[in-house]
Amino acid sequence: MSNLQQRRDFLKRGIALSTASITGGTLLSSSATAATVTEDIKWDEHYDVVVIGSGLAGLSAAYAASENKASVVVFEKMKTIGGNSAINAGSVAVAGSDYQKEKGIKDSPELLYQDMLKAGRNLNHPELTKHVCDHTWPYVKEYCIDKWGVEFTGQVIHVGGHSVPRVMSTQSGSKFINAQVDACKKNGVVVQTRTMIDKIISDENNNVIGVRVREKYRFGKSESGKVKHIRANKGVVLSGGGFTGDQRYVTLQEPTLQDARNTGQKGATSELLIEALKAGCNPVHLSWVQQYPLSSPDEKGFGFAYAFSSRAACVHGMLVRPDTSKRFMNELGNRKQRADAIIASGHPAIAIADSVGFGKVSHSKIPMALENKSLKKFDTLEELAKEYDLDVAVLKGEIARYNELASTGKDVDFNRKMSGVSIAKAPFYAARCYPKVHHTMGGVQINVHGEAIGLDGEVIKGLYAAGEMTGGVHGAVRLGACAIADCIVFGITAGKSVSAA
Ligand SMILES: Cc1cc2nc3c(=O)[nH]c(=O)nc-3n(C[C@H](O)[C@H](O)[C@H](O)COP(=O)(O)OP(=O)(O)OC[C@H]3O[C@@H](n4cnc5c(N)ncnc54)[C@H](O)[C@@H]3O)c2cc1C
Repeated sequence: MSNLQQRRDFLKRGIALSTASITGGTLLSSSATAATVTEDIKWDEHYDVVVIGSGLAGLSAAYAASENKASVVVFEKMKTIGGNSAINAGSVAVAGSDYQKEKGIKDSPELLYQDMLKAGRNLNHPELTKHVCDHTWPYVKEYCIDKWGVEFTGQVIHVGGHSVPRVMSTQSGSKFINAQVDACKKNGVVVQTRTMIDKIISDENNNVIGVRVREKYRFGKSESGKVKHIRANKGVVLSGGGFTGDQRYVTLQEPTLQDARNTGQKGATSELLIEALKAGCNPVHLSWVQQYPLSSPDEKGFGFAYAFSSRAACVHGMLVRPDTSKRFMNELGNRKQRADAIIASGHPAIAIADSVGFGKVSHSKIPMALENKSLKKFDTLEELAKEYDLDVAVLKGEIARYNELASTGKDVDFNRKMSGVSIAKAPFYAARCYPKVHHTMGGVQINVHGEAIGLDGEVIKGLYAAGEMTGGVHGAVRLGACAIADCIVFGITAGKSVSAA
């Protein structure tokens, strides 16, 4: 705690505190508007910058703020660091990278921007989307590669909804998080786990001046932990992630998702978002909740089979619906198009590739999927059809049609970009896919400086936000690999802004 200012003082004036009763990480009871109490606050600790949440957005903000010589603390409510960022697939969309240039792939921030607007149904806040697109390669190069030492595989992957191959990968989000934590600690950032923020503290002018924390908090026990008040001299960064793990709040926003399973970690709950709304933040797009189309119903959470389905079957093979044994979508469509198609079919889809398509993908999760049998290998198409109750004659006809389209390079049936690989050479591989709740596009509104915007459209002084906690960057649908890009770009942006305040 070398950078911790030990000075303690009293704020001898009225403080507006928003109140909420939280249990199990979820709001149980709250008033429609925040109750206001006036009390003297005894500040236990002082920092220039308080960051809430230790995912990619929070650690990016903390690092950028520490570069500007700010004293920074990151509070994380869970025992482990990293949130959903630590368990994600480590894929980041980068437009105009050196890796693309080496492979002769033509791309630009403008093309990524157009792809994100198209997927987002133009509901995106365009200036935010543009800010992300303009900074993917500059920030991935400067921060991830040069300053944090994140190691990428060197592959440039074509992910659904993107016009060109542009996705760089570490194959695991923890590779980003570990590198960021090391870099933050070298810069003197304090990272404190099991510390939950349950209040954002504002002064009488609604400027955010600090937070109330519960140290040694036990997840799910809202009253656990020792209460402390932390003064933020320059500002507070909200980077608490999305609320995909909060079934109650997801259903409140999107009732059709009542029974949906999810891919994320259990700490992805709504209480910080609700607290932010009570502090006056403007909510954006809260009911746009994304389902990941390719997760396996045969695994818990995100699992491993997605690596085969997304990289091999959707690029070099196909998806069929079991009731007709036929192809039924552009397998490289955006996530909503694919999830909607699978849900409408009423069955998990079967993702199929042959040994050539399978062999084109090198991913650490694929052997694990074979091991847990969510991905299966077959010597013949007859065996594959039997396993998934497909009509083998119809399936063979579909494969013949698919191979014809693959050889011409034009998918006149579903308008997919074809890799040219056919489904012909045994062994064959297959996995089941069914959508699970994966990302919340909505959150608090920010501007291009990462400053939080209030209900009146004005900046809330002292409050910043980044990552999945915010809304507007992705509009209605987040494209694959664009969340990490968003977290890095807006995390760094918010960190620079708050430390310059
Ligand atoms: C399985 C999976 C795979 C994914 N793969 C990819 C991918 O390959 N590429 C991509 O672009 N996107 C991917 N995503 C999406 C992406 O991982 C997330 O959008 C991103 O990690 C969010 O980062 P964040 O920093 O905003 O939040 P998080 O990483 O979720 O971190 C937020 C942290 O804040 C903490 N927190 C919340 N409230 C409080 C509080 N009140 N007090 C203290 N701490 C609090 C949480 O515990 C959490 O640790 C994936 C998501 C999942 C679930």
